[in-house]
Amino acid sequence: MKKVSHFNFIVIGGGPGGIASARRASEYQKSVLLIEKNKMGGTCVNVGCVPKKIMYNAAFLSEMLHDIKDYGFKISYNNFNWDVIKQKRDSYIKNLNNIFETNMRQNGVKFIIGEGVTNSDRSVLVNNHHYTADHILIATGGKPVIPNVPGAQFGITSDGFFELKSLPKKVVIVGVGYIGIELAGILNALGSEVTLIARGEIVLRNFDKMIQSVVAENLQSSGVKLLYKSEVYQINCVDENSENLEVNVQSNESGSKSIIPDINCLIWAIGRLPNTKSLKLDKLGINTDTHGHIVVDEWQNTSVPGYYAVGDVCGKFLLTPVAIAAGRRLADRLFNDQNERRLDYSNIPTVIFSHPPCGVIGMTEQEAISNYGNDKVKVYRTSFKPLFFAVTERVQKCQMKLVCLLPEEKIIGLHMCGMGCDEMLQGFSVAIKMGATKAQFDDTVAIHPTSSEELVTMR
Ligand SMILES: Cc1cc2nc3c(=O)[nH]c(=O)nc-3n(C[C@H](O)[C@H](O)[C@H](O)COP(=O)(O)OP(=O)(O)OC[C@H]3O[C@@H](n4cnc5c(N)ncnc54)[C@H](O)[C@@H]3O)c2cc1C
Repeated sequence: MKKVSHFNFIVIGGGPGGIASARRASEYQKSVLLIEKNKMGGTCVNVGCVPKKIMYNAAFLSEMLHDIKDYGFKISYNNFNWDVIKQKRDSYIKNLNNIFETNMRQNGVKFIIGEGVTNSDRSVLVNNHHYTADHILIATGGKPVIPNVPGAQFGITSDGFFELKSLPKKVVIVGVGYIGIELAGILNALGSEVTLIARGEIVLRNFDKMIQSVVAENLQSSGVKLLYKSEVYQINCVDENSENLEVNVQSNESGSKSIIPDINCLIWAIGRLPNTKSLKLDKLGINTDTHGHIVVDEWQNTSVPGYYAVGDVCGKFLLTPVAIAAGRRLADRLFNDQNERRLDYSNIPTVIFSHPPCGVIGMTEQEAISNYGNDKVKVYRTSFKPLFFAVTERVQKCQMKLVCLLPEEKIIGLHMCGMGCDEMLQGFSVAIKMGATKAQFDDTVAIHPTSSEELVTMR
């Protein structure tokens, strides 16, 4: 252990949260060191949002192929070539990795590729060097969980999904959180035969009941097989390349066992855990919860002064814009005297890129009722066929729900699923964040003909 260098700010983790915070700090003329052990951009850029959305776009186009004949186009379809989109996607991401590095260089952020380990006296050990700082940010994100069942190693995770060299013919996806749902939708639309396995009797556990049921219905009507109350207890590999698997499933209800044969790919989508184990946080006295997430207060302070955490490593709202917003606000507070600057974690909008997509902000109907009581909550609903599907054989309905708090009917929740709901949500989120009421929505003139006009004309 040789050289020691001192910085105003050391950031461990080059994902969205770490990079955003590091760049903001350096804009305030602070000396900043960022340490990343893998590729710049973190989960979001390399194995998350960005490659996922590219594959979602491919799946969306595949769905459109069913509809364009109804709009009068006659095309000949020569099958989907996975390799074309994989190569284009990978090269786009490589480009993004470089852009992140260039931006950091331009901002004057020093960065090192290596694994950072926190040490006492606000120092970090990386590649055998010690670096010290006035402030240390931990933004090390998380990784997918692989369960402890025999043969689990024959499966892959969402990380492995982005390495697949071809479209698997028969897939089992275990887990019905948003990642499992999204991957099932993509693979199904591109032509895989997909079985989705849920431990309980619903999908998307923390979402509004309307979203849970409409997403499950859409998956099933598009051909995804949903197995509820089931668990995978063993995987047998029939060939040496892990491309022919026997998936052993047990019903949680009856205990009965069954085998799903000839599976070419099994994806574990059963949750994510924080990257905290190798940081040696316990030596420093930084508190973590039972899963290893770093416990922070509303200012992103950990239990040890001078150490902070943002993003997925804290286990709250695992979303890129949340990590970025918390990271930037932390730098504003530490380095620009904005003492009150912190992220307000209420009303965070989120999208599930299902088919069709869902957009969600605020409380579910269930949450609103348990917080305020049945007599204080009024719910508006609508269900309709978007105009796009007026002339098509294939129909995806749109469903929307507004959750309002009486007496003034302040909108405290918006839940919708339908074509375009992903792009629709951002603007409505501004209004809801500003405290809009139902009367104000009603007072806004509709844009016709769109699906979003339904949100300002609900009765
Ligand atoms: C399949 C998938 C799809 C997703 N889709 C969306 C989406 O559509 N929209 C959305 O908002 N979010 C999405 N997310 C979530 C999003 O990717 C994360 O919320 C976001 O990346 C969190 O950012 P972060 O900076 O906290 O952590 P990360 O992006 O995980 O970055 C952490 C970085 O720290 C590095 N690191 C870890 N330990 C060390 C160490 N000891 N030393 C040095 N470096 C270290 C890691 O290599 C990593 O690069 C998706 C995630 C997945 C997995």
